[in-house]
Amino acid sequence: MPIYVYQAREQEKSCEYCRTSFELLQSMSEESLSVCPKCGAAVRRLIQLVGMRVGQRHLLTDKNIKDHGFTKLVNEGGGKYRKI
Ligand SMILES: [Zn+2]
Repeated sequence: MPIYVYQAREQEKSCEYCRTSFELLQSMSEESLSVCPKCGAAVRRLIQLVGMRVGQRHLLTDKNIKDHGFTKLVNEGGGKYRKI
């Protein structure tokens, strides 16, 4: 199952759990999270990892993700993913 990494959209409305980012194991068919399971703050999905874990996940952002050797996949629906 892929691991999804989520992070709070607004830092000031986040809790300790979602402020830096958290990982969630979800099946492909599950809806992506829109709120933090702990505090209910709006969250966004950062990346999807398949079969591996990120050691320094707090360093990953949308902007530097490629520098860390990761590829971000955007779900376009219908099982298709686009690399960005
Ligand atoms: Zn939270």
